[in-house]
Amino acid sequence: MVKVYCVGHDYTYELMELLKLFFPAEELQYINEGQALLEGSYIMTRVNIASGILRTEVEISIDGQKGKGDEECNIANESSLVIRKKSKQLLKRVLLKLLMNVNGIALPWGILTGIRPTKIVHELLENGYDDHDILQILQNEYLIAFDKANLLLTVARTEHTFVYPINESLISLYISIPFCPTRCVYCSFPSNPMKQWGHLMADYVDALCRELSMTAEYVKQQNKTIETIYIGGGTPTTLTLEGFTRIFDVLESAYDLRQLKELTVEAGRPDTIDLDKLMLLKSRGVTRLSINPQTMNDCTLVEIGRSHTVEDLKRAFYLAREAGFDNINMDLIVGLPGEDEAMVVNTMEELKKLQPENLTVHTLAIKRASQLKEKSHAYVLKEEETIVKMLEITQTYAKEMGLKPYYMYRQKHMLGHMENIGYCRAGYEGIYNIQIMEEKQTILAFGAGAVSKMVYPRENRLERVPNVKNLEHYLQRVEEMVERKRAYF
Ligand code: SF4
Repeated sequence: MVKVYCVGHDYTYELMELLKLFFPAEELQYINEGQALLEGSYIMTRVNIASGILRTEVEISIDGQKGKGDEECNIANESSLVIRKKSKQLLKRVLLKLLMNVNGIALPWGILTGIRPTKIVHELLENGYDDHDILQILQNEYLIAFDKANLLLTVARTEHTFVYPINESLISLYISIPFCPTRCVYCSFPSNPMKQWGHLMADYVDALCRELSMTAEYVKQQNKTIETIYIGGGTPTTLTLEGFTRIFDVLESAYDLRQLKELTVEAGRPDTIDLDKLMLLKSRGVTRLSINPQTMNDCTLVEIGRSHTVEDLKRAFYLAREAGFDNINMDLIVGLPGEDEAMVVNTMEELKKLQPENLTVHTLAIKRASQLKEKSHAYVLKEEETIVKMLEITQTYAKEMGLKPYYMYRQKHMLGHMENIGYCRAGYEGIYNIQIMEEKQTILAFGAGAVSKMVYPRENRLERVPNVKNLEHYLQRVEEMVERKRAYF
């Protein structure tokens, strides 16, 4: 066991996030009070502020390896908020430098443990920093590796033009269709297998349409118009033609769509797509489709619980082209059980032939609510080094396919502590994806398990307003979901 002493600060959570990357299997005991007993294995962290100087110190003794470090900076005339931010940053930096020395492990993302690393760059851009200064800050103050710093800058520069200047009259809508043909082993989304829950689909569409139309009244009162709509899930294409028609009817009649720039439908599973459905989507104004193979290897599709083949997927893709879709995203997951580098190459070769306009590469994350977590002993997962190589393969192919990174985020519990990257051909950026990541626009979310984000940019504040996850509870309590949102308008 390693004792972690926190003296003069309460940044236990921040330290925990960083330390678990170095000591995933070690028991860490955090001690905020009392006398520090510097014996056995310990990490001593101290923050001290005196005469306008902030000083942080760290001392480590783990398995006979020892080290000490400190840094200080001037904080005279800074607000308490800035001082707190700087103290955390300084403490994490001193700690990380020591840990890297002691363990010989480098973290490509440095002291950043949050899921939206681009936010820092947006702040710097808004404060007038140029590219050179931003790269310096990312590397020196956040200890981010050069290639990751470059990635952050490239992504943030692209995103910036979509997010800034902030237009408070625009909002986006997210509509959740939490039904899927079967449940994938890595899934932690609201998803109900059709076989078991499909009988509730018609009632669900009823409830969803009520939630949409009742909420529209408040949206109108606030004079908000819609910039993007994202129909996700689950697998929205489990909806029937009638189901889709009813949802589009409500959207068109109840909301101001004159400024709508993007309407995405996730057609995640090819076994739910046919030409009639695709033609309907196209005729009702859907601009962007997401067909998600996750892998182009049949044996992995079986392993992860998908009930379709690679051929089904290609067929769905060409049907979408036939229906007129010229903006198709494809999602991939790197690090799926049983996959090696050659299999990732195969997936990328297949995708290269299809030439989608968008490609989103996720790194497998072992989520708590997934079967993968429950039965983790049954799956052989890859080491960090292999994950890094696999991601490099996807990067190289994306470049060859003429795709550039335009949005990114990180997740907890990701293999290799890497990142998810959205690539696209210039001009095909998924605006909803950017807005949801950067959290500068209100996103109203509808349906079971959907979470609205109410954004107050002038106060730099965000409130999350969740809907209930359970399908049956949602059907019974849809008025309450409207009321929850209304309270935040
Ligand atoms: S298709 Fe997506 S939402 Fe449905 S079970 Fe698989 S991962 Fe979950």
